[in-house]
Amino acid sequence: MAMNDLPNGFTGFSKNRPNDFESAKSAMDFHAASRSVASDVSRQSRRAVSDKPAGWVADDRPDTRAVLQFAANGGKPDERGVIPFDPEKLAAIPEIERRWSWVEIDLNAIRHNTKTVRRNVAPGTHLMAVVKSDAYGHGAVRCAKTALNSGADYLAVATIDEAIELRENYINAPILILSQPPMTAIPLLLAYKVMPSVYDPQFAIAYAEAADAFHLRAPYHLAVNTGMNRIGVRFDDVVEFMSQVSFHRALDLVGTFTHFATADEVETLDFGIQVKRFVEAINALRLAGFDPGIIHAANSAATMRFSDVHFDMVRLGIGMYGLHPSGVTRPLIELKPAMSVHARITDMRAVPMSEGVSYGLHYRSPGSVMICTIPVGYADGFCRGLSGRTDIILQGERCAQVGNICMDQCMFEVDMRSYGSRRRLNPQVGDEVLLVGRQGMSIITLDDLANTLDTINYEMAISFGNSRLPRVYV
Ligand SMILES: *Cc1c(COP(=O)(O)O)cnc(C)c1O
Repeated sequence: MAMNDLPNGFTGFSKNRPNDFESAKSAMDFHAASRSVASDVSRQSRRAVSDKPAGWVADDRPDTRAVLQFAANGGKPDERGVIPFDPEKLAAIPEIERRWSWVEIDLNAIRHNTKTVRRNVAPGTHLMAVVKSDAYGHGAVRCAKTALNSGADYLAVATIDEAIELRENYINAPILILSQPPMTAIPLLLAYKVMPSVYDPQFAIAYAEAADAFHLRAPYHLAVNTGMNRIGVRFDDVVEFMSQVSFHRALDLVGTFTHFATADEVETLDFGIQVKRFVEAINALRLAGFDPGIIHAANSAATMRFSDVHFDMVRLGIGMYGLHPSGVTRPLIELKPAMSVHARITDMRAVPMSEGVSYGLHYRSPGSVMICTIPVGYADGFCRGLSGRTDIILQGERCAQVGNICMDQCMFEVDMRSYGSRRRLNPQVGDEVLLVGRQGMSIITLDDLANTLDTINYEMAISFGNSRLPRVYV
């Protein structure tokens, strides 16, 4: 059904009087007794609208001819008098002009971070860019391409579908999946030339057989469990594993790796134990005549802290996005955060003293404040647990977020009093604000929000970046 064929009841607009909202009209008829009250209220709200400094107000409507640029057929009505919309022109309305909130990704920051880490590892060492979970919310395709142009030469993802997205966007670098996919995904690995991490002999054989049937090789990385106890062949079982699978001619052991559980912690005892076990496993493989291939272990934290565990490749995740794995690495390397979160004020009002704001009305106005609304809620990664515990940056100044964060919107408070040398802010509908980022002297980081919520910056990046907020690359 074409857009213009929708029944009137569905669109809500009456056929004859296009300015009447059908459902509101029938609701008012139904509640005949309250009609005079309702029309009072609507008169008041009309007045409130026309008092506003900005927006679509009665005497300042946009030129109706301007909107006709979205019509098909040069705006000529068809035989029924209907002017059709042009779907392509509608599609061209940018996402940030459909809803006033977005995540900004600074690809220069990703370039800077990747190059900085590149400079800090030996020239022969491979640099693997970890772009799992849509590059920690930053967009896997754009980030992978940026990283590959800045010194990375290997990619890592969590799932076969993440790998396929990269391949379908003409990315030809080697891709490793950081765990072992189900056996049913083997044809996809081979078709898209994506390497699995392997730790189950049955999987290895099935993978090899499938490769053989297609006259292909079956390259893989062997995951070694040295103490994190998440995935992998236990460090003292690697030779046993290899002797079970190595007979298969199609299998290629391209790399051997482990993962550290505590590389970002001050205490290094457990880290040292994992390193020792990993080196033991590598030596055992070599002694038994197996070539371990590319040896890798270091995540961002280990890459920044311990050059003796770089081996043949380092795996750069969080650091590439300009975030520190923990406070421990902060003094060691200068990173630029790539993600910031933006919105524009959609509505505002002076709320009288002691009136509440948002669900529960838990925040009460102290008077002399402007309550501004922005279209960002917990469905956009702005977790409800942050309610009343974070700030919004307006015109370079921090303003308190107030009231419960709703699913799609939230409010913040602007102090309208003048005192001392304090600059009085003058918020307007349409003003750009920051939930995360730097403006003037004010800065709010993903780490700040993570600390407030007792979680890690990784989760905050994913929360905003993989929400319904559009990403804008700068
Ligand atoms: C996610 C992940 C990484 C990257 O970790 P960061 O702390 O983000 O650098 C490296 N290796 C493995 C196996 C991972 O799962």
